[in-house]
Amino acid sequence: MKNPKLQEELTKLLNLSERDRNDKLRLIEGEHLLDLLDEERHKFMDSNKGFMNAMCDELVVRGIYPSNEGKINTIYQMVSGWGARWHVWSGPFNCQFCGTDLRDQKAGPPFKREIGIYDRGRDRTVAYQCPDCKKEWPR
Ligand SMILES: [Zn+2]
Repeated sequence: MKNPKLQEELTKLLNLSERDRNDKLRLIEGEHLLDLLDEERHKFMDSNKGFMNAMCDELVVRGIYPSNEGKINTIYQMVSGWGARWHVWSGPFNCQFCGTDLRDQKAGPPFKREIGIYDRGRDRTVAYQCPDCKKEWPR
């Protein structure tokens, strides 16, 4: 839902230099910052939703995208979350140690069976683990 007051506040923030904007952000109360982030996200998600859906439909018609019938996520959601090339797996496809197929054939692309090893301190995935032989490799 678009909120005109929040939109106006975001426009003001966006017109500032990055440094001034970051200074201002430090003064905004947490709950309000969450509202602003949600509003900005909506702007991004809804900006060209119709156009994005039309492109998705075209890619389905051409057989480049699967129809995603019976799947939990719509094609638009997959594009939003994973990018336009969500429909193909990214490598490596096999475990370098035991050779097992890392692609999740049941869920389909882009889902894979490898387990992400997440480092809380660094707030990122630092390595992957094979679901079968349990060996790890760096990201
Ligand atoms: Zn393995």
